[in-house]
Amino acid sequence: MFKVTHHLTAAVVGALMLAQSILMPVATPRKDAAPAPKPAVVAMVTPEPVANPAPQAKGKLIVIDPGHGGSDPGALHQSGNGQADVTEEDANLAVALRLADMLRADGYEVQLTRSTDTEVVPGSKAADLQKRVDIANEAGADVLISVHHNAAANKSARGTEVWYCSDRPFGAENERLAKAVNEALVRNLREAGYDTVDLGVKDDSKAGHFAITGPNLARPSEMPSIIGEALYITNDQDAAQLKRPEGIEALARGYFEGIKVYFGDA
Ligand SMILES: [Zn+2]
Repeated sequence: MFKVTHHLTAAVVGALMLAQSILMPVATPRKDAAPAPKPAVVAMVTPEPVANPAPQAKGKLIVIDPGHGGSDPGALHQSGNGQADVTEEDANLAVALRLADMLRADGYEVQLTRSTDTEVVPGSKAADLQKRVDIANEAGADVLISVHHNAAANKSARGTEVWYCSDRPFGAENERLAKAVNEALVRNLREAGYDTVDLGVKDDSKAGHFAITGPNLARPSEMPSIIGEALYITNDQDAAQLKRPEGIEALARGYFEGIKVYFGDA
């Protein structure tokens, strides 16, 4: 959420999440996949390689934008003692870094708007948001993926949604990207053992435009752009997924698989 909050971050938790994200090997086989029925010829099947050292270049550039950072923590989850134990800025970055790993290992080019706990432009939220879009435009990105998590005053609100804008020259493609990512986020969370609520895709032209997706910036995005709000930080069950490596992995894989579907590469 683009919210200004005045609390500061649980930096240690974030650092741990980040460390888990970085330390995870790129091609770890998924532990959460349901075992497939084994036909009699299974022994003849060549196992999937555990790593692909030279992925074929896809010729697509993905700009990943981990929302918030630095003095802007985004949404917060508070533990029983009132301290923030999950911050949006850290969760967004952990998912984004893992997603970047997956995409690069699969032959995509990736650029991040930030790769550490910092603002992109300190001191001005408006300039910060414009810069994130400028980075994607100047890089000639094929898509801009802004990774966020949701917040609500009602702590029971939970679920997965992805925002796009229909009021753009590429509105139909943008909706297709949003749907592919939303579907894959929900599916991967469920395969990781968490039955998230599927809130679907949302058109920001019906809800007031967001800077990242909408047409209202001085220099709006020149490519389909989405804002993933994969879980509610303010909900205990949703936030719990962001505290475990399997949850971060499921979210990164959801974005990854959705992007691949969008490019006809799944
Ligand atoms: Zn946010």
